[in-house]
Amino acid sequence: MTEYLVLRNARIDGALRHVHITDGMITAIEPASDLDDSRDVPASAATLDLAGRVVRPPFVNAHAHLDKTFWSMPWQPHLPGATIRQCIDRERSIRAAATEPQLPRSLALATRMIEAGVGVIRSHIDVDTLVGLGGVETLVQVREKLAGLVDLQLVAFPQSGIRADPGVADLMDEAMRSGVDVVGGLDPHGIDGDVDGHLDVVFGLAEKYHAPIDIHLHDEGPDGLAEIAQICERTIVSGMQGNVTISHAYALGSATSDAVAPVIARLAEAGICIMTDGPVGMTPPVLRLHAAGVPVISGSDGIRDAWSPYGVPAMAPIATQLAYQSRMYDDADFELVADIVSIHGSRVVGVDGHGLEVGCRGDLNVFDATAVAEIVAESISPTLVLRGGRVVPPGPSSWPPLPVTDLAAVGVAPH
Ligand SMILES: [Zn+2]
Repeated sequence: MTEYLVLRNARIDGALRHVHITDGMITAIEPASDLDDSRDVPASAATLDLAGRVVRPPFVNAHAHLDKTFWSMPWQPHLPGATIRQCIDRERSIRAAATEPQLPRSLALATRMIEAGVGVIRSHIDVDTLVGLGGVETLVQVREKLAGLVDLQLVAFPQSGIRADPGVADLMDEAMRSGVDVVGGLDPHGIDGDVDGHLDVVFGLAEKYHAPIDIHLHDEGPDGLAEIAQICERTIVSGMQGNVTISHAYALGSATSDAVAPVIARLAEAGICIMTDGPVGMTPPVLRLHAAGVPVISGSDGIRDAWSPYGVPAMAPIATQLAYQSRMYDDADFELVADIVSIHGSRVVGVDGHGLEVGCRGDLNVFDATAVAEIVAESISPTLVLRGGRVVPPGPSSWPPLPVTDLAAVGVAPH
């Protein structure tokens, strides 16, 4: 039997609409002023009056590390490291001593993200000579278990470097053959001390597997800016415009405005995307990048892992952090950030059917808010999350019953 859901009086782009979802797909979005009988709605249809609540496409977490998290474990006291290298070494020692399987933790965190309205996740997975492809195997299982609930894109991430950890290049090659989607990279200068050698491997694998690239770049100062310029050069020469992301790009957030200007122009020319989660003092200039035509996306980065004790599965707090660190105060800028944590991310990650349009999947978030800006300013997470026209998890008990997807069916314990 056809499953039919009508969301009445949804606030979309500031106007009230009725949204019709048939068998998991959005089949109509009509002005709320239209006569109620303008469309044949079966008597069996479920109907919910949203009374002007804001409806948005799902959040996109375009930078996560699901393979590292301690989520669902008892609290792990954080052991700080002064440098990236120290953090890498500390994490390796924690992992070498770990005895519990990673799958339940990764699955629990991904599921909590879904409940918080995230519909797309790009997760970097450590690939090095200590963990080998163990993280890849775990995340491929998570992707299979959560199919239909979240689009999970996987990145082969050389957390211990490539040249600095001989054998990683071959492991990354194997990871790409094992179902990983994106080639990762990490501080070619700061970690490997060999920018060309590092980028040879990254761009070589991308060409071999026709895969996008996403490079972590923490390096700051002139070295960091020079690396960005080199990545731009490589991207243009290899014809990969539109398929390369630089994550963090702290150099853009910490250098002077004059020093950054030519680099932004080059990024636009190379069609490179910048991922930032809005770190204090190092957030790239979001408005300048956007004005120059450089796509900006966002993500959680690690959540409760060896790198950071902070983080929650929801994307709304990250949107707030990004807006605050970018000194944004007006609605147009808040709406840009709302797009950064949603449709901009989906374009870069490259998922089909993500959006609030007829023909897209019935994946959407309903917020107890009267404007999109309110969601960003107040870190509002959705009241109701729909995936394929079904609710995950059930909404307020005062609302009429709707079709539900049971998350327990994928083996995740309730909160
Ligand atoms: Zn990261």
